[in-house]
Amino acid sequence: MDLEAVEMALRAALQQAGAAGLSQLLRQEPPAEPHVPCSCGGQARYKGMRTKPLLTVLGRAEMRRAYYWCSHCQQGQFSTDAALDVENTELSPGVRRMLTLVGSECSSFERGREQMKLLAGLEVATKAVERTTESIGADIARREQDTMQQALQRELPIAVGQAIPVMYVQMDGTGVPMVSKELEGRTGKGSNGRAHTREVKLGCVFTQTKLDAEGWPVRDEDSTSYTGAIETAEEFSRRLYTESQRRGWIVDLYHARQHLWGLSSKLHPSDVAAKRRWVMSHQHFLDDGKIELLVNRLRALATERQELAEEIETEANYFERNAARMRYPKFRQQGLFVGSGVIEAGCKTLIATRLKRSGMFWTVRGANAVIAVRCCRHSREFDNYWESRRA
Ligand SMILES: [Zn+2]
Repeated sequence: MDLEAVEMALRAALQQAGAAGLSQLLRQEPPAEPHVPCSCGGQARYKGMRTKPLLTVLGRAEMRRAYYWCSHCQQGQFSTDAALDVENTELSPGVRRMLTLVGSECSSFERGREQMKLLAGLEVATKAVERTTESIGADIARREQDTMQQALQRELPIAVGQAIPVMYVQMDGTGVPMVSKELEGRTGKGSNGRAHTREVKLGCVFTQTKLDAEGWPVRDEDSTSYTGAIETAEEFSRRLYTESQRRGWIVDLYHARQHLWGLSSKLHPSDVAAKRRWVMSHQHFLDDGKIELLVNRLRALATERQELAEEIETEANYFERNAARMRYPKFRQQGLFVGSGVIEAGCKTLIATRLKRSGMFWTVRGANAVIAVRCCRHSREFDNYWESRRA
């Protein structure tokens, strides 16, 4: 007996039987009610039953469900598709989850297609692996943006995680090769002066509660979460700030400097050099943890510049309120991690192994989607994400 041939054939047969059973479950009867509410506020009218193929974990199945048409807004709808998370797709949620996994973890989308065939017994196109990974990645990124918006709208940073003794935030950048249209007008370090890559900014947050036998700090196992994208420094600062806040605390130097830049823009709206000079002459207070001196400087400024007084006072209050979180020299003295090993390793495992392989050229959209999925998975958040899609 060729055991492998038999086990594969049996799996195929069982999948086929399962797909037939699933198709039965997905074959709805015509609805008793001829109308459903439409998102425009009107009523959509039942127009008949429609079928569509659906690739499921068990193979090819078919679903039959009611189709409704709203004459008010001229839109058709399948309310069942939305409820089952198969709107505008012929791939089931289970298959899309698998495709996203192989698409983000395998060395290429083509490798992902091969793994689907061997491991899941499912034939899919390479394009399906790519498109699904990109669309789920874009959805993860969209949700992150929503979370950031909410976090930034809060007046005070609220610690949402558990109380922890030491939390680290690290960041780094690494170049990813791009298709030429993503590089237009960008100068680079290459011999011809042209750029070949765009920078992915990656951040990580982790905690440390123990020291090893020799007194060195040890990173807590499974405590690292990652976030990253190809984006501007300003966008990235918001991303990292939000992630730090989500994890329970903030390491503020980076964000605090942003506050100085923001204030300087208001003081010198049309003079870039003056704006820069003003930040440089105040930043050392921050770096040295001399927050009270900075607050005094700001308040003195307010008396000279009446028209900006309110905004300056807001910033002065911000620094005053958070002074205890800005004692940077003290933090350094306390024997806390000062190296950047964790984030450097992260750049390699999260970004380079998937996005910097030879012969690869990315679009920003595609790269950011894959980065979003990989950060989500390596932060152990992918299962939670999938749960939240069902809710
Ligand atoms: Zn409508």
